[in-house]
Amino acid sequence: MRRRDFLGRALGATAGLVGAAGGLSGAAAGSTAGLAPSRRSLSRATPLDGDPGVAAQFPPPRLDAHAHVNSVNTAERVNRLTGAGTLEPLAGADLVERMGADGIERALVLSTAYLSAMDAVEEARLPEAEERAAVELENDFCAAECARFPERLIPFCSVNPKRPWAREEVDRCVDLHGMRGVKFHFWNSVVDLRGRQSLDALAVLFGHLADRGLPAVIHVFNGSVSDFGPDDVERFLVEVVRPHPGLRVSFAHAGGAGGLHPRIAQIFRRLTEVAPLDSDLGRRLWIDISAVMFTSRFKTIPPTAEASRALMGELLSAWGAERTLWGSDTIPDYVSQTEGVWPLSDAEWAIVAAHDGARFLGG
Ligand SMILES: [Zn+2]
Repeated sequence: MRRRDFLGRALGATAGLVGAAGGLSGAAAGSTAGLAPSRRSLSRATPLDGDPGVAAQFPPPRLDAHAHVNSVNTAERVNRLTGAGTLEPLAGADLVERMGADGIERALVLSTAYLSAMDAVEEARLPEAEERAAVELENDFCAAECARFPERLIPFCSVNPKRPWAREEVDRCVDLHGMRGVKFHFWNSVVDLRGRQSLDALAVLFGHLADRGLPAVIHVFNGSVSDFGPDDVERFLVEVVRPHPGLRVSFAHAGGAGGLHPRIAQIFRRLTEVAPLDSDLGRRLWIDISAVMFTSRFKTIPPTAEASRALMGELLSAWGAERTLWGSDTIPDYVSQTEGVWPLSDAEWAIVAAHDGARFLGG
């Protein structure tokens, strides 16, 4: 893999497969806008033409469960690592404007502070004191941007769960800013889901989230482990999530890292097997479908092929629309991208689109 591709993948929120900007947040409007058709121009002359499962009027989702803002500082640092234009600064006002264009009411805005404490890229490490300050600054930025639009933007802090001060930073964000949940990126933070010590430490941290009633959005897929797969995610569920009955978790990108490939499908399938919809564990789990399905190529993710679309339909229907959250990863035009390849019925879309996030957030 070319160095820049690797950096982009490890850095990004959609890290895995998206390549540089994809998930970082967002994507730089400038560098990605040209890749996606606008809502108006969404072509029906595709293999989906006439498919009765795709409504002519796709009601917009009320909630974007996976959005980002980025400070200038973080954008500049990431761009120094991965190349200009990978990550553009994005303010709350920019996000609200995009939401308005798509008819979206509210968004969970996931801080990208974890990018300031990354373990996936050795050369990206900041000196210890500087690292913590940078994480705090980015979480502060996210909180401040959301505070300008309190009815629309719901702030989530983020932190590398391996840092000894992770819990303190979460508490600071909640107590000082009223942030509503926590985002983790297990690839960027190179979180080990196999070692006893690491699992025990995670269980303590997540127990704390449960005690405080804080939901977590987790990018669980760790591409730095070459055979990362369903067993890792099952271990996380069984050893870290299940023991804390109050803990609510949403797996970003349907358990993957952007797009849908066989390994991701195995992980998503395993989630359903270990935590079916009607189980105690299953009732407090969600997935978001950000950066999973695409009408047209996005960065390194090809348009969703018909076979992948059918597979996603099967997996989503087994998982349940009741716990499927729409999310954009702040990818421009992701509503129309989703619309073009949506694999379930109109009725199931209506359920997904109606989620307002209240149950995930804790009422
Ligand atoms: Zn993201």
